[in-house]
Formats: sequence, C-alpha cells, structure tokens
Amino acid sequence: MENGTIMSEEFLHFLWKFRLLNPNLQTVSGENLVILHPGEHNTDSGPDFFNSRLKLGKTTWAGNVEIHVRASDWFRHHHETDRVYDNIILHVVYESDIPIRVKEKEAFQTVVIKDQFSASILDHYELLMMNHQWIPCYNQLKNLSPQVFSLWAPALAVERLHTKSLKIKKLWENCQYDWEETLYQHLASNFGFNLNNLQFELLAKSLPLKVLKRHIDNLFQVEALLFGQAGMLEKKWLEDYPHQLFQEYEFLRQKYQLHPIQEYPWRFLRLRPSNFPTIRIAQWAAFLHKMKGHYFCILEDMEIEKILEKISVCASDYWNHHYCFDRPSAFQTKVLGAQSAQLIMINGLIPFMYFLGEEKSAPEIKERSLNFLQQMAPEKNSITNHWNQAGVKGENALQTQALLELKQSFCDRKYCLKCRIGIKILAPI
Ligand code: SF4
Repeated sequence: MENGTIMSEEFLHFLWKFRLLNPNLQTVSGENLVILHPGEHNTDSGPDFFNSRLKLGKTTWAGNVEIHVRASDWFRHHHETDRVYDNIILHVVYESDIPIRVKEKEAFQTVVIKDQFSASILDHYELLMMNHQWIPCYNQLKNLSPQVFSLWAPALAVERLHTKSLKIKKLWENCQYDWEETLYQHLASNFGFNLNNLQFELLAKSLPLKVLKRHIDNLFQVEALLFGQAGMLEKKWLEDYPHQLFQEYEFLRQKYQLHPIQEYPWRFLRLRPSNFPTIRIAQWAAFLHKMKGHYFCILEDMEIEKILEKISVCASDYWNHHYCFDRPSAFQTKVLGAQSAQLIMINGLIPFMYFLGEEKSAPEIKERSLNFLQQMAPEKNSITNHWNQAGVKGENALQTQALLELKQSFCDRKYCLKCRIGIKILAPI
C-alpha cells in the first residue's frame, strides 16, 4: 500500500455498494466478472454483502460477498473456521498478498480492485479524512445542490427525535411509568437552558409532582418549595420576600420531609441576568402554577401558537425588580421570551410528544411533532451559524434539528462514507 494512503474496508464497501468499480473486472484466475447487483450491505457480523448477484465467466451466481483490504485478512479475522463464510461467492480485496482456499481443492473466486476505480475518489476521500476544518467537507458545501440536504432532513430529524425519546423512556421507567411525573421532570431540565439543566433535573427529582400539586393554586407556596429545594433560601435576608419564602419552605419541608439539593451549585457565571437560574426557577414556578397541575393537556393542543402562549409565562411581581434575592434592580417584567419558549418547545415538548407517539403506537402524534418542527423558525446557535457560513441553511426548526444531528452523528465521527452529502461529493453521479 502506498505511503499515506487511507485504505479501509469502509471505503472498499463504499466502492462496491455504489458500483464505483471498473465494469470490466477479472478475477485472479482470469475469469470475467460482472456485478449484476452488489447485494445488501450487512453492517452486523457475517459477510459484508448478502444476496449479491454476479456473472463469473458465463455463469450467474447469487450469494454473499466478503471484502478485505488484504487477502490475508481472511485468516486474520478467522473466517476459515467460521461456517457463516461457507457461502461466499466472491472475495473482494484491495491487495492480494496470499491465495485463499476455503475447502480442499476448491477456492472461491477473488478479485483484486487496487487499480480498478478512479483515483480521484480516493484522493477526495483522503482530503476529507485529513481535513481539520469545522467539518471535513466545509469547502465543498457551497457547490452542493440544496436538495441533497433538504430531502434527507426529515429522516435526520426523526433520528434525533428517536434518540431523545430513548432518553425520555429511561426517565419514564425511573418514574414508574407515571406520565405526568415524567413530563414534569423532563420539562424541568429544559428550564435550565443548558448551563443549569442538571440542577433543574435534580430539583424536579427532589420535589415530587404530587407534593407540588397540593399547593399548585398558590404561587407563593410553589416558589417557596422550588427555591427552598434549590437550596437558595438558607441565608439571613434583608428583604421580607425571601425571608417569608424561607419560613414557608421550612414549614413545608418538615411537613413533607423534603431535602434540598446540594450536589451541584447553580451557575450564574457568564449568564445574562435574564437567564439567571433565579429567574428561570421563578418562571418555572409560574408555568407550573399557570397549568394548575394539568400538564398533559399542553400536548393535546393542535395549534403551536396556543402551546407557545402557555409556555410564555411571566415571573411573579417580586422579580419585576430583582434578578437575585435581596438585590433590587430597575423595573423589568421577567417574561419567558419567544426564543426561550421556542427552545422549550423544540427540546422539551416536541421530543416528549414524539415519545408519546412511539409508546402509544400513534403515528399521528409523531406526525404532529414533526409538523410542529416544520412550522417553527430555524434555531440560531453556533452550530447552525457555522452551517450557514458553509452554505447550508436550515429553513425551519426541522431542518436545524437535522443539521445538529448531521454534525453530531456524522461529521464529528467522520462518517462521510455513510452520509448522503459525502456520497454526492465522492461519487457525483
Ligand atoms: S459527514 Fe457528510 S456533511 Fe459531514 S463532513 Fe462528512 S461529507 Fe460533510
């Protein structure tokens, strides 16, 4: 193998699967080989391609194909002792370093493909694999037809929703299959807006919904429970409000045998005051109070505007003049803004809706979650900005979710050979 050449089985699979080999192939024993159908790519254990159809000389064969970089990999992978490989009809190798015999007196056919494909495909592949830009194909995206991504976007977005729904399923199991408790805990983490997600998750876990529901009509008590459990009230206060919250919390804490969370400190650093966890907890309290314990009905709304309106809550009056306890500031209502409501919708409610659809075998609910994503404006974050600069624009939230999935599940792992964009770049036919 030439120095510096990145040769891998994945690359050889790619050549085989997309029929990128010279059509006039010959096996090592000199027989003409025509690939009638490359077969089904098997990504589990066993032969690499099932049910391939080939013409060897004048005979048509159907069976399995195994592909290796070197012929000797057959032994290195111990295929000679594995019955699963008995039905191989062709061994495709990049280099034939040794002859392979499967059974006495009988050898399956081998084809060497080292010089049987366009050198430019390998050059392009090597450039991708060695590129250290934000994503390997960064410079090549501007020439790409927008359809390559837009046609793939729904499948990518579904994949992302599916991954999120697996996480929600675990939470549901931990909540003993209590739907409302699961939704409550899942939504709580979304009020952490990344930096305080874990703290919100722990806060919700430490305060069961059934306890909170008993006081849901009283916003002051909801705040007392949440701020108390968040560990934010234990201090000597100058102002009355936090002092009263503390007294109320002490009463409720003893009544319900609650234990405030202590594991992780709340993060205020590098946050704008309107994103401080104090404001987010006050908004979370306002949301819980506003829904009066009927959280599930939010998933039944058919109109996205109605859901966003329910999420767009305003923190209680005290917070009009505060970002933290005991530190008065200029008047400013602390409404949960449109962009924040959209994030809660995209990362919280829509994945939950999708999970509900999966668990209840209700494709119409899953469909609704995808429609909602399609109706929403594209997200703005550092990853979508990078994609924009590279020339791939997300037109709505479904497409920006797809871009996040593409970056995380393909580009970061350099899975260019499995990516529809990579396939277009490497094999533009
Ligand atoms: S995975 Fe696809 S989009 Fe990502 S760098 Fe590779 S070719 Fe480009």
